[in-house]
Amino acid sequence: MGSALAFRGNKAALPQKACLGCLRPMTWRRAWAKNWDEVKYCSDRCRAAARNPLPSR
Ligand SMILES: [Zn+2]
Repeated sequence: MGSALAFRGNKAALPQKACLGCLRPMTWRRAWAKNWDEVKYCSDRCRAAARNPLPSR
């Protein structure tokens, strides 16, 4: 049961913020380590949706 405490502490250390596209909380990823402050969307899909809210079709 000791591993649960260690995992909980480790996960709580990761920063989080809401995606501007889907408003879901996104957890820090290693790929965002260099530009975490500039990350606003959880995925390219959300970024594209934010730029074009309505499909052209
Ligand atoms: Zn999103």
